[in-house]
Order: sequence, then C-alpha cells, then structure tokens
Amino acid sequence: MAEYSVLSLVRNALGGHRRWIRAWRDPEPKKRYDVLIVGGGGHGLATAYYLARNHGITDVAVLEKGWIGGGNVGRNTTIVRSNYLLDGNNHFYEHSLKLWEGLSRELNYNVMFSQRGVLNLAHSDGQMDAYARRGNAMRLNGVDSELLDRNGVRRLYPYLDYSANARFPIYGGLLQPRGGTARHDAVAWGFARGADRLGVDIIQNCEVTGFERSGDRITGVQTTRGTIGCGRVGMAVAGNTSRVAQMAGLELPIESHVLQAFVTEPLKPLIDGVITFGAGHFYISQSDKGGLVLGGDIDFYNSYAQRGNLPTVEHVMANGCAMMPNLRRLRILRSWGGIMDMSMDGSPIISKTPIDNLYLNAGWCYGGFKATPGSGWVFAHTIAEDRPHRFNEPLSLGRFTTGHLLDEGGKGPTPKLH
Ligand SMILES: Cc1cc2nc3c(=O)[nH]c(=O)nc-3n(C[C@H](O)[C@H](O)[C@H](O)COP(=O)(O)OP(=O)(O)OC[C@H]3O[C@@H](n4cnc5c(N)ncnc54)[C@H](O)[C@@H]3O)c2cc1C
Repeated sequence: MAEYSVLSLVRNALGGHRRWIRAWRDPEPKKRYDVLIVGGGGHGLATAYYLARNHGITDVAVLEKGWIGGGNVGRNTTIVRSNYLLDGNNHFYEHSLKLWEGLSRELNYNVMFSQRGVLNLAHSDGQMDAYARRGNAMRLNGVDSELLDRNGVRRLYPYLDYSANARFPIYGGLLQPRGGTARHDAVAWGFARGADRLGVDIIQNCEVTGFERSGDRITGVQTTRGTIGCGRVGMAVAGNTSRVAQMAGLELPIESHVLQAFVTEPLKPLIDGVITFGAGHFYISQSDKGGLVLGGDIDFYNSYAQRGNLPTVEHVMANGCAMMPNLRRLRILRSWGGIMDMSMDGSPIISKTPIDNLYLNAGWCYGGFKATPGSGWVFAHTIAEDRPHRFNEPLSLGRFTTGHLLDEGGKGPTPKLH
C-alpha cells in the first residue's frame, strides 16, 4: 500500500491521477474470524485498527450494514474536546484528545484536526461558579482550561449579543484551547485504510441480522452475506445498539433519538473556534469551506429515522440567534440527522457484557466523535485482554446495577436532557 506524501501527490498529478490505488480492499467475508466488529463507524474501525496495531490481532473483520462513513461518524458537527468534570470521563476523553493530536501522522491520512479552541459561554454567576469548578478539575488532571470573563469572551468573539437587553447576558466562559474540530469522514476513511493495511477485512453491505449462541458464548453472526463464525464479537453500532443487542438477548439502558445538524451558505472567515451557548443547547463552528456548522438538542422523542423534524429546527435556530444575532441574516443550506445512542447517565459504555465473548461499545449521546481514537484504543484492549483498560473501567455496563453512575450533567436517567 502506497504512503500518502507530497511525492506521491506530485507523481500521481503528473500521471493524470489514474494510478491511485484503492484506499482499502473489498474482500469476500471468510467463514470465520478471531474477532468480528459489528458496525463500521468511527468506533468500530478504530477498534479494528488498534486490535491489529496494539495487540497484533489481525484476523478481524468489520461488518458494516451500509457504507463506511454513512453513520454518525460522517454526520456529526465534528467537535473534539476533553472538558469534563468527573474523573471517569476526564481521563478517558483526555486520552482520546492526545491521540487526536498525532492521528494524521499515525494514520498517514490528513484528518484535518484543527485545535482552534472550544468555548462554553456562561450566562449567570452560578454558571460561572460551575465552570470555575469544572476548569479547576480539568487543570488538576493536567487538561488545559481557561476561565474567561465577559471582556475575555468579547475579545475573542465581538459579534455575540452583549447588549443591555440581551435575552441571556454573557458573563464569561470556559475555554479549552486544545479542543477543536476534525474532518469527520476523513477520520472514518483514515481508520479504514489503516486497519486494512494491517490485514483487517472491511466488509460493507453486510448487515448483522442475528447471533448464533452456544450457552453463554456467541459462536457466529448471521448476516445478509451468510453466517460468519467468530471467537469474539465487539458491538459498535451507535444508534442501532438496542436493536442489535436485542438480537443477542440483551436489554440495555439506552434509548435512540435523532440529532440534527445544519450548515449555512459559505461565508468569509468569521468564527475561528467552536462556541457553545450556555443558556440552551447550541454549538457552532465554521468549516474550511466557509459554511457555519451548527446543532442543538436531540428531537425529543425516540426514533431510528436519520432525519429530523421542524420544531427542533426552529428551537435550534432560536437559540443560535439569541447568542449571535447576525445569524438571522444567513440561509441554511443543508440539514441532516443521525441516530444517537443516549445512555441513562449521559456517559458512554465500553464494557464486557453478560455474554462471555460479546463486548459492548455504546451510549455515546452527543459526544462520540471526539472519543473515536480513545474509544477504539480501550475497546480493542478490552476485547484483546478480556478486561477493561484503566480508562474504561468507570464506563462499565455494571455501573447501572451497582449505582456508580457517571452523571456528568446531573440530569438523571432522562436521555433527552443529556
Ligand atoms: C448530527 C450529529 C452531530 C454530532 N456532533 C458531534 C460532535 O460535534 N462531537 C462529538 O464528539 N460527537 C458528535 N456526535 C456524536 C457522534 O457522531 C457519535 O457518537 C459517534 O459517531 C458514534 O460512533 P460511530 O462513529 O461508531 O457511529 P456510526 O458511524 O453511526 O457507526 C455505527 C455503524 O453501525 C452500523 N450498523 C448498525 N446496525 C448494524 C448491523 N445490524 N449490522 C452491521 N452494521 C450495523 C451503521 O450502519 C453504522 O455505520 C454527533 C452526532 C450527530 C448525529
């Protein structure tokens, strides 16, 4: 497999770009693999990559019902950060952020990771106190954070609503300078190419439709391309988790909801970081093509449809205009939806399951894109070693029976609030 480099770019340009080789193969599924990963999203592909790279396990297939990049990994608003309060989340997401920092080089694929800073706005004294506490917790764990007062925010983003009659006055904000954005589908393609190079079979158009069991073990999976035997199975199907887990006889503390995203017509450079609104759920950044990329709350009912509804569109736009009034003059160019796997405490699950050789990666709520490399790293470890990595010990499924929940937002078991 050829390395991507300036030299290969020049060589291929001179050859009329006819000699590029496929980024990954398109193999027929074998009868059996040591490890099957169900779901070819960011997490499934990263897991396969790190199984091969970190653990030398290469007899691996990733089974994807659609195409690589067609799920949430290619639908998100690309925000990457590690600004968490609770240790269980903080260490895990910081591990992920550190992997992001070297990911393009690691994969020999430009994932366009841009550390442009993520700012959370505060709109009351109470919220400033909460951000000071969160920022301190981050700093104690070696994670970068800066508490900004109103003038500090104004210096960064002078066009937010600072007027005396603003609906939600801005008091300040918490900035994570190392946070930022990445190109989402490049992440899927980079991990797919990287895993393929290490011997992993990526099998698209291959939906898992059932599991074959012998006692407490899975012996194979039924798919639309026939039955495939396996030693171990890792499930990373994001919004489809409840449905696929049900096929294996598991009921999980997860609900599926649609989350929409929007992009405006392209503009000259305006927003050079990521801004999130603290008085409602709204986040915005600017893509390299100039479009403003924005999103807000999930649609407030369960669904498996990858498209959303108008009341949520209005709700998101109202929040956006309250924060940044000049948005009113823009036109929305496109919108789309993805199915979110909302867990009951708002934190992810990377865990062994009651079935001996079935492992679970799910519950990503709004934030699984930023976790992609870290999640793949620790999930691969969990599958390879049959025990959690220290960073995903607090993310076990067992926490819902023992009560050791990671309720970062203090929202209780109400997925629509996370
Ligand atoms: C609109 C939107 C905005 C978001 N914004 C952000 C953000 O800014 N920052 C952030 O960190 N996170 C964000 N997220 C969340 C993030 O995208 C997800 O948490 C993350 O991508 C989920 O992991 P994944 O990439 O593996 O999922 P997916 O890409 O959805 O992968 C799961 C795969 O499993 C496949 N699958 C399902 N069922 C089967 C089956 N039976 N057999 C075989 N394959 C199957 C699916 O086809 C899919 O490709 C956002 C999500 C959405 C929808």
